[in-house]
Amino acid sequence: MLKTFLALKELIYPTTCAGCNLIGTQICNTCGENWLAAPKLNFIGKHKLYFVADYNPQSARIILSAKENTNKFCIDLLARCIARSIAFALPVSIWVQQITITTVPSSPAAIRRRGRDHISELANQVVKLLAKENIFATYIPILYLAKNIRDQSKLNSSQRAQNLSGAFSIKNCEIPKGDLFLIDDLVTTGASIQEGVRALANAKISITAVITACAVGRNSLIR
Ligand SMILES: [Zn+2]
Repeated sequence: MLKTFLALKELIYPTTCAGCNLIGTQICNTCGENWLAAPKLNFIGKHKLYFVADYNPQSARIILSAKENTNKFCIDLLARCIARSIAFALPVSIWVQQITITTVPSSPAAIRRRGRDHISELANQVVKLLAKENIFATYIPILYLAKNIRDQSKLNSSQRAQNLSGAFSIKNCEIPKGDLFLIDDLVTTGASIQEGVRALANAKISITAVITACAVGRNSLIR
């Protein structure tokens, strides 16, 4: 009975690739290759950025599905990329190190619209995935949005930087020791990451590296 129901459901709502809509799979080989690749190293200013997937229309769809549609498969894909990149970025002496993850905060408006805090949920999932690999990290949301910002999607890179200037502040929390990774799902212009790094540096907190699931090419990043 359940089998018949599932077959019928598959006929009406066939499984499609989260990236390109190809019928018959949750992620096709072409899209999957982008998300299963080895972590890459890039730079935002002088800060190391580790990421897995290159930004393209297919990866943009996956990020949007995770962020706005709470698509579990896509959220898991993002979390796995971030966890793999952190494991890759860690120094060899991890057993003596304390590892902390912190996030680029979402705006309260975005959290209200989504009915959940996407980036915090992602960070918690990353902590769980790392624990399975015997890497024990703590998630501390150090940054918060201290001023109202405009929706970033229609802004160019200099407008984004201006929009975000002085936007983040530090919560009254314990200053992490050891390695600190600043994570986000995607980096495009690098404006929010740079603002995050600035706010942390202002409080004398330095980061080991920036980690995102997906990133645009080297030339598009703010230097
Ligand atoms: Zn695909």
